[in-house]
Amino acid sequence: DQSVCAPLPVLGRDVTVPLVTGGEVTYAALDYAASAPALQRVWDDVAAYAPYYGSVHRGAGYLSQLSTDLFENARRTVAGFLGCRADDQVVFTRSTTDSLNLLAAALPADCQVFVYETEHHASLLPWRSARVTYLDAPSSPRQAVETLERALADRDPCGPALVCVTGASNVTGELWPVRELAAAAHAHGARIVLDAAQLAPHHPVSVADLDVDWVAFSGHKLYAPFGSGVLAGRADWLRAAEPYLAGGGASRKVSRREDGGVDVEWHDNAARHEAGSPNVIGAYAVASACKALSEAGFDTLVAREQHLVRTVREGLADVPEVRFLSLFGDDAPRVGVLSFVVEGWNSSHFAAALSAEYGIGVRDGLFCAHPLLRTLLGSDPQAQGECGAPDAAPGEKSLNAIRVSFGAGTPDEHVERFVRAVK
Ligand code: PMP
Repeated sequence: DQSVCAPLPVLGRDVTVPLVTGGEVTYAALDYAASAPALQRVWDDVAAYAPYYGSVHRGAGYLSQLSTDLFENARRTVAGFLGCRADDQVVFTRSTTDSLNLLAAALPADCQVFVYETEHHASLLPWRSARVTYLDAPSSPRQAVETLERALADRDPCGPALVCVTGASNVTGELWPVRELAAAAHAHGARIVLDAAQLAPHHPVSVADLDVDWVAFSGHKLYAPFGSGVLAGRADWLRAAEPYLAGGGASRKVSRREDGGVDVEWHDNAARHEAGSPNVIGAYAVASACKALSEAGFDTLVAREQHLVRTVREGLADVPEVRFLSLFGDDAPRVGVLSFVVEGWNSSHFAAALSAEYGIGVRDGLFCAHPLLRTLLGSDPQAQGECGAPDAAPGEKSLNAIRVSFGAGTPDEHVERFVRAVK
């Protein structure tokens, strides 16, 4: 397809790996959903900055001032990338998991949380000290909205409530109806946080257009593998909460009381939840990745990725043993994340063979989404190979699948090799 652009340059393009069959081959990294390779541009930006980095918000020296400026500029770049509202806060965290745990720690008293059982564990588990309603797996985007509307209609309308939902599934790659879910949440006086770990690297995200209250994502899935994540959105709950971490940087004023105790005034901006020396390289890298993706243009990136999705789907359409996993149907819109099982094969063995015989790195297992995998595979004998999964009890059948995922740096050859190998 002439209209499909070339992949963006990423690190690791020339890494070769040995094959059990002899010789070696260029590594095909097809596990972007776990961690994407760094964009060359991100690496270059970080390398250019590295000699100059210094402590953020702490030093009087030139390099500390420079790093503080770059850190705060990175916040503005991320806010722009996410289409944040003027008064939203952008908090730098370690990851999506960290971001959602931060928000969970900032929930107002008596907050009720609504979350689909289909979520990644990072979205499913942080809320357990609140009142949580787990929503059944929907079989269509429409049903997802109806399920939420029904659950919200039954809630205590006076108390605070939060809905947590993924933008794109880390298992099926399917896009969730975020805008409609946000409208339903708001119609019932609830707020909504978007887990954009799999959405943001593949798709434009606009907090304001989608009308979500918060969004969370991870740098290492967005081509910036430096231990940084983001929570962006409404300031009020974050400002009212105790700091996620107590320490320097989060505190504006600390003094001894006459009774011997300590009084603390916390910052009420993003620094409130960023105690300790911040990961300035990570924040800088995330901002660099945001700029690189925006400059490449999501229209182009999406077109390329959809071309790769088609290569997989059409390439394997005539292999009846392959069954792709989906909630919303095979033709539902999705990002470049596809999970499948192969009749007659244990998924772990299949994935190991792709690596050892073809130099292809995919993921096998339950993808940190155990309830979803049970829904998708539970009654499927195809999915249950004869060999136990590594964590299966003796005599228990394995329950696992294979996931292939790709993105802005994936060359056609990697996906074509994958299709050949599966065949
Ligand atoms: N949410 C989704 C949808 C994910 O795919 C992942 C990572 N697989 C996470 C959250 C957690 O991301 P991290 O491990 O970077 O915290």
